[in-house]
This record gives sequence, C-alpha cells and structure tokens, in this order.
Amino acid sequence: MSHKLRFRQIHLDFHTSPAIPDIGIGFNKQQWQDTLKKGHVDSVTTFASCHHGWSYYDTKIGKRHPKLDFDLLRAQFDASKEIDVNVPIYLTAGVHSRMGDEHPEWREVSAEGSYAGWTQSPLQAGFKSMCFNTPYLDHLCEQIREVVALFPNCDGIFLDIISQGPCCCQFCIESMHQKGFDPSSDKDRKAHAKQVLENYYLQTTKAATDENPDMGIFHNSGHINRGDNDILKYFSHLELESLPTGGWGYDHFPMSAKYCKKIDKDLLGMTGKFHTTWGEFGGYKHPNALRYECAAMLAFGSKCSVGDQLHPNGMLDESTYDIIGAGYKEVEEKEAWCSDTVNVADIAVISSDAVNQCRDSAADVGSAVCYSKAIIYSI
Ligand SMILES: [Zn+2]
Repeated sequence: MSHKLRFRQIHLDFHTSPAIPDIGIGFNKQQWQDTLKKGHVDSVTTFASCHHGWSYYDTKIGKRHPKLDFDLLRAQFDASKEIDVNVPIYLTAGVHSRMGDEHPEWREVSAEGSYAGWTQSPLQAGFKSMCFNTPYLDHLCEQIREVVALFPNCDGIFLDIISQGPCCCQFCIESMHQKGFDPSSDKDRKAHAKQVLENYYLQTTKAATDENPDMGIFHNSGHINRGDNDILKYFSHLELESLPTGGWGYDHFPMSAKYCKKIDKDLLGMTGKFHTTWGEFGGYKHPNALRYECAAMLAFGSKCSVGDQLHPNGMLDESTYDIIGAGYKEVEEKEAWCSDTVNVADIAVISSDAVNQCRDSAADVGSAVCYSKAIIYSI
C-alpha cells in the first residue's frame, strides 16, 4: 500500500456528549471554508463517529447523535472538497460508550471480573472499552463499509484507540478454550489477545479497502512499539500522535520519526493546538510553539497534522486557525523542498524499546535525540 499525504492537516476531534443540545447548529459553509483557508489547511480529518458512540452522518448502521438534525459530515465533506481540502474520515473503534451501554457483554473484562480498559466501574464516568473478539467487531466493520460506500472519494479511514487487553469476557473465555489456551494463565491470555488484535487489523482493513484497494487506512494507538513490524501491512501510512504537552514530551516525536524514516510509508507528525492536551475548549498553544513543532516535523521528514476539537455547534474557532495559520503558512512556503526526503545518518542506534517495551528510555533519548544525524533500528 502506498498513500501520499498532504502537508498541512487538521485532526478535528468531535467527541460530543448526547446531553449537549443544538449540535452543528452554527455550521456555515462559508465560515468553514474561510477559516480553513485562513489556517492554510489542505486536509481535515472529520468524524463519522465519536467515543460517545454517536454518528454525525445519515447512517443505517450506527445511530445519529440525538441532538443533530442534519448530515453534518456530508456538509463538512462537501464544503472541504469544494476548496480542494482533503477529507480523511474518523471512526471510533476501541472505545464506544453507546455500544457499551447497549451490549455490556461486548465490553472488555479483566481477569478479576471488572470491566477493563479506560473505565472499570459502572460508577466511574468515562468512555467504555470494547472487546474486538465480540460481535462488536462485526458492527464496526459494517459501519466502516457504510462510510466508504457513502464517501467513496474520502481520503482515508482513521480508526482510533486500537488495543486489545488480555480480556476474559464470555467470548474470549470460549475462544481461549477452543484454541487451546489456558484462561488462568496470564501469558496465554496475552497471547490470545494478540491473535484477537491481529484479526481486528485483518477485518477492519478489509472492510475499508475491499471496494477500493487504494483507500488509505490508519489504526491509531498513540504509539507503536519499535520492532512491532508485523502489523505495518495493515497501514497505508503512519501518523505519529505526539503532543509534546499532552504526555508525549518533546523527545517522543524525533525518536519515532527517525525510526519511521526507514519504513517505506508516508509519514505524518501529529501535535495539537491545545495548551496541554486533547479536548481543551479555549486552550491555545503559543504560536511560536506550533511554528517550532511544524518545523521539526518537516526537518524529520514528515508531513504535519495539528489536532483541534470542534465546538459542538460545528463552528471552527477562528483564533485557533490564526495560530495554526502562523505555522502552516511557513510549511506551505517550504513544502516544495520537503517531499520524498531521506534521513542522512552517520550513526545507527539500536533502540531498547523493542526489547523492553518501554517508550523513550533515557538511553535511547540520550543517544538518538541528542545526536541529530542518527537513525534508529530495532532488533
Ligand atoms: Zn473479550
């Protein structure tokens, strides 16, 4: 698979509670187009479905957000395409609160018997993690097929929160017995979870690409351990989620980008417009921070993506796109010289990540980030 990415992308989060009224009521085609142009944006990843489990288009598979009365995704899609802005489409995958409520038997369960993943107790607020070894996977694939059929000229499918814990739901217990795993063994539960995750990759990638083998697809898990190369065949390209102020720090992106430059796939760095992390309404990063982060993405051979959170009323925030525009104007001026770059390295670093499964060990950071002409390998 090869998939050519654009340089100036927005990842437009839209996780919107069913309790919020008047969803998308402020959407206006002209405001949408003018604001994207002001931000020098050439691609915007928009939402088919969110972690709350609601859809933002006319769906027969999912359920449209209860406070949305028109096809918001179609309106965003058409407005973007009209000004030659690409539109990859996002679907939530690993967490889905509505499905967690409708089918609690499809949720991931710990060996201790509680729900597992992001939210363990019924008393705890939060998004609900689903098990990919249940009929939930069929539902997810049906929705992917529907989105691809309705938006055949979309610029890729983005699937979020991709992981599978050592689940003990009824479906996992049964399949562990069938496959000869011992559910009481932690090692066997993990080995089984790995098989479940492999099947997730296979089924969802097939759902996205059956009709059009060139459809882009990306499975996001925040970080892929170096050396975990078997799954790369399910990715059309790579997006390195790495918000310096959102928990990743400033060392994560350079390390990941240097490693990924050896992989024959187009590459996107992803930061955020937020002062800290995802989901902030009204939090702004200083424009100089964003200018630096975009310049670093170009320097490390990747295209750029900035995460934003769309207001429930559907209007893009103009102050946000003033800040993004400061960075993306500079990217636009430089990008003609930044395509198909190669990393010219004079040392190679064997990463300890592949052995220890630990992200950004001090040894890796010290040897690779501090020395700019390094390339990173795993064993
Ligand atoms: Zn399970």
